[in-house]
Amino acid sequence: MTVTPGPLLREGRLYQHLYDKSPCPTLLLWEHRFVDCNPACASLFGLTDKKDILLSHPWELSPPTQPCGGCSEDLAKAQFDQLSTLPCATFEWMHQTLAGVARPVEVKLFKLLDDEPRLLVAELTDIRQRYEFLRQLQISGHVYQHTSDGVMITDANNRIIDVNPTFTRITGYSRQDAVGQPAGFMKSGLHSRTFYQCMWNAILKQGHWQGEIWDKSKEGKLLPKLVNIKAIRQQHTCVDNFVAVFSDATSKYKHRKELEFLAYHDPLTHLANRTMLLRKLTQLTQDRQTKAVAEPFSLAFIDLDNFKLINDTKGHIVGDQVIKAAVEKMLKHVQKTDFIGRLSGDEFLIIFDQSPQPNYVATTLDKILNEFNQPIQLAAEDYYASLSIGVSRYPKDGLEPNSLIAAADMAMYQAKTAGGNRWLYYENAHGEQFRQQKDIEIQLPGAIKEQRLRPYFQPMADLRSGRLYGCEILARWQQDDGSFIPPAVFIPIAERKGLMPALSASLFKQACEWIGQSQVDDNFQLSFNVSAKELHSADFGQHILTSLAANGIAPHRLTLEITESCLIEHFEQSMFALETLRQQGITLAIDDFGTGFSSFNYLKKLAPDCIKIDKSFIDDLDSGNRVNRLIVKSLIDLAHDIGLRVVAEGVEQAEQLNMLHTLECDIVQGFYLSRPLNASDFRQLMQHPEPPGKPRPNKPMLQ
Ligand code: C2E
Ligand code: CA
Ligand code: CA
Repeated sequence: MTVTPGPLLREGRLYQHLYDKSPCPTLLLWEHRFVDCNPACASLFGLTDKKDILLSHPWELSPPTQPCGGCSEDLAKAQFDQLSTLPCATFEWMHQTLAGVARPVEVKLFKLLDDEPRLLVAELTDIRQRYEFLRQLQISGHVYQHTSDGVMITDANNRIIDVNPTFTRITGYSRQDAVGQPAGFMKSGLHSRTFYQCMWNAILKQGHWQGEIWDKSKEGKLLPKLVNIKAIRQQHTCVDNFVAVFSDATSKYKHRKELEFLAYHDPLTHLANRTMLLRKLTQLTQDRQTKAVAEPFSLAFIDLDNFKLINDTKGHIVGDQVIKAAVEKMLKHVQKTDFIGRLSGDEFLIIFDQSPQPNYVATTLDKILNEFNQPIQLAAEDYYASLSIGVSRYPKDGLEPNSLIAAADMAMYQAKTAGGNRWLYYENAHGEQFRQQKDIEIQLPGAIKEQRLRPYFQPMADLRSGRLYGCEILARWQQDDGSFIPPAVFIPIAERKGLMPALSASLFKQACEWIGQSQVDDNFQLSFNVSAKELHSADFGQHILTSLAANGIAPHRLTLEITESCLIEHFEQSMFALETLRQQGITLAIDDFGTGFSSFNYLKKLAPDCIKIDKSFIDDLDSGNRVNRLIVKSLIDLAHDIGLRVVAEGVEQAEQLNMLHTLECDIVQGFYLSRPLNASDFRQLMQHPEPPGKPRPNKPMLQ
């Protein structure tokens, strides 16, 4: 039995095995060329046959330059030179496979035989992993230094151990300023303790947290940051470090601020908008409800009188300028403790939360109204705008925003109805009336659209012949329960809400269609009322001409009834609109004649074809009131002298009729003849003018 490997050693086979089986890639070099390599080395270089590298120089199996930047050939030769003085050279080297793939290795180079410097051994260690790791580290380091995000690293006690250059750029704190400080040293004080508690809970439980933190920069400015904090655990148990990566959110926040500004402010006047006003009111009412004592506060609902007219006639650009100028006027008297905002078009709210002195609200509103005594001066023209203001008070008139606004709106409406240019307190008693008004406001557009507003016809008779002369078309709105909402209620609402053009067009169209279908004779006259609020609409008159033409009614059969108040606003434009129709043959009547302030003035200016003496004068005709009778006589004589027809309206008594006959009035209209009738009743009346069995003395025959 052999007890030593002597024979194997002697044969050298053992050493060959050692060389072939070694996992350590090994090369033999003769005069700086590879002359042999073991299989481990062949595998490292991806060789199928080791002959492929034989006789090549090490730098031929390397990239031209090494990672340090030096030339591979020069560096390799330098390593060989070292062996003249040293027994062994150890260094890192970048080889590459024949296919050009990098093979980072650590090389141990030494002479195999002491007396033969030409024969060298190179033992290689594959350092791909280490190399890759270092490369990653380098990249991370580069990122750390150059990223556009700020990075702050703290130790387990949350003290800063490093920050990157971007941290300094964003916060203003240098590395020296920051290192050693507790992580929260830039706190702005804006966040609550709970905020930080939640944040730390998440970091410690889930290992990370993301969110917005408002810190303070070194300059002392607020600094919104979008932060991502991570807990780093090396041992998978306790935390070693915290890394906070953050970006500067100032610009995003600025943008958001702009958006927020737009969401809560009116772009034209920069005042708070409806949403903001409601928020403020909600906050005020809620604050008070949590307190034992409810301090009162007031709310003023302000509406510009006649603004719609300015907008319609002068256009939106002028309209906008007027609004801005009006706001400036109001702001002169609004103090810091007050809160003003724009509800919509020409509607504003002022919340008087605190009254610096007694009667503060009243004095302020008086001052504001006074301010509007001076015209608004725009480039070429002066605009006179007045205000109607309604005031409601918390808690007396309402406990929550909507009821307070509704009450102030109601009071504003009363101020407007009373002639505008004034302010009024809301009085509870009007609550029911207000609700009805609101209901009507809501229902009216639909009623117009669905033609639930119908024309009624009130006959007019020629007093001399006793024959039917024509009719006045009057609007009627019947409810589902059969009751009627009077025009005196819905017409002003339609005017206020800008619905008059639509209402008028629908009504006149229906009336003409009916007349067109009925067998009325060619002289049958139609009278139609015109509102001031439609005279200025762009297509006023067009619907009238269209409906007439569509139903074969000659324009000379139509009289438009106009009240003086129609003409007071913007006389020139109104005249122009009417003149166009007049040229088509349509005639004009002054309605409610005698009730205005300057009836004769308008008589001169409008030069109508007819006047309708107001019912108030007719009422007194049978009472023996001599002065009244003289007035009516003078009106009739004057009208005849200048060639006008005279209609007496509101004739209810036979005596009134007789008197009008004596005074030579031309036409009469009133309940004595007939109430306004719906289409079928009116048709019947025309077919059977005198209901059998009910003859009345002196009554015109209506035939
Ligand atoms: P108005 O133009 O002066 O119309 C005459 C009003 O007097 C009508 O009231 C009519 O029903 C009423 N009336 C007629 N004869 C008598 C009478 O003998 N005694 C009494 N007590 N009243 C009489 P109505 O229909 O309620 O209309 C009221 C006002 O509403 C109208 O006054 C007019 O200004 C307005 N209106 C009605 N329909 C329309 C319309 O279609 N367009 C416009 N713009 N206004 C309308
Ligand atoms: Ca009328
Ligand atoms: Ca009238």
